[in-house]
Amino acid sequence: MPGIWTSTLVKLALALVAGGLIGWIYDQPALGMLVVALAALGWHLYNLYRLERWLTTGLTADIPDGDGVWPPVFARIQFIKTKAKRRGKRFRRLVKELRASAEAFPDGGVILDAQHEILNYNAAARQLLELKLRGDRGQRIENLLRHPDFVDYLRSPGGRPAVEIPSPAGGDAWLSCRLIPYGPGQTLLLIRDISQRVKMERVRRDFVANASHELRTPLTVIMGYLDTLGEDPEQPPAWQQPVRVMQEQVQRMFRLVEDLLQLSRLESGQPVAKDRVVNVAGLIELARRDAQSVPGFGGQIGVQVNSDLNLLGEETELQSVVSNLVANAVRYTPAEGSITISWNTDQDGGHLAVVDTGIGMSEADIPRVTERFYRADGGRARQSGGTGLGLSIVKYALRRHDADLEIRSKLGQGSSFICHFPRDRLALS
Ligand code: ADP
Repeated sequence: MPGIWTSTLVKLALALVAGGLIGWIYDQPALGMLVVALAALGWHLYNLYRLERWLTTGLTADIPDGDGVWPPVFARIQFIKTKAKRRGKRFRRLVKELRASAEAFPDGGVILDAQHEILNYNAAARQLLELKLRGDRGQRIENLLRHPDFVDYLRSPGGRPAVEIPSPAGGDAWLSCRLIPYGPGQTLLLIRDISQRVKMERVRRDFVANASHELRTPLTVIMGYLDTLGEDPEQPPAWQQPVRVMQEQVQRMFRLVEDLLQLSRLESGQPVAKDRVVNVAGLIELARRDAQSVPGFGGQIGVQVNSDLNLLGEETELQSVVSNLVANAVRYTPAEGSITISWNTDQDGGHLAVVDTGIGMSEADIPRVTERFYRADGGRARQSGGTGLGLSIVKYALRRHDADLEIRSKLGQGSSFICHFPRDRLALS
């Protein structure tokens, strides 16, 4: 390229000199040079015109021929265009591949903008949400997924990884919806069909509920006969101990069956209505009295009711929450320890706490104790007479009241179980 510039400049200089000489013959050297300069300018203008024409055709016409600096300029433009074309082709292929893989994805994906309007979606989303190819782009997702749990999650995802809702398509279908923010103001809504899992859970729940229900009658009959045997004054002394052990074990099985039945009722239920006021002080007093009458319990249970507000919900379920927490505190606190039940309200809602100075539990056990049959200290907890279902019952009963259970505990120092109720579950009187 620099060589071309040199030869072009040399040619121009020679042409100017030649023009000057010819002009000098006619006593007009300047005019001669001016004519040459104008001719050079005209030639370059002509080439610029050809370049402009060529660019207007989108470089589809043949590359213009020429002389001097122009052929390399044309060639460079052609080269840049070919490169851009190749890059564009590669980019289009990549987009196509990405689109094909998104289409092949078994889970639904919907891209939402900051206003939750649908920008794009894949084939699985189209099928799961029954989206129409054209009509639903630009629609707000709440218009298609109207379930209150989803709308709440969309407004404030909080720490929740996903929500599970019945499919808008109806039937027995269930969907798991997960929001993943990405890009400026955009969100990817991942939708998974969980109908099979929900169905299996329902089958399991129904099986446990039916089996527990069926066990109740034979257990009642056995318990009746054992009671009669136990009260028989003519009972041989050698039978007394085995009959007492059998009575204890049957009672334990009965408690287990009752807890399993209660748990399956709570698990399958929807949130409890807010139309009944439950007196919190009454719940606490009943739980305290029951716990205090547990044989062998010698400690004291302190009560602090610091609010006049009460709860909206189902009394039997809330009673079960308080009674299970207090029964556990009694079970896992030695006689010299202390137990306090308190009720407070603030701008966040209501807080019902059962605090003990008992055996406590390790940090690793805390997230697991609300699982069915999980025991922090296996042998000891089983001996204490619990069914291993108390905290699961508490968890599900609280969930039906939109409440959370917070557990704080230190091994050997005691535990605090705090039920946090939202403000809209509080009621005067
Ligand atoms: P359980 O009938 O065995 O008490 P729960 O579901 O009520 O079953 O409790 C699960 C486990 O959590 C218990 O086995 C026990 O290890 C632990 N736990 C519950 N409450 C307390 C407490 N107040 N202090 C120490 N550990 C507790």
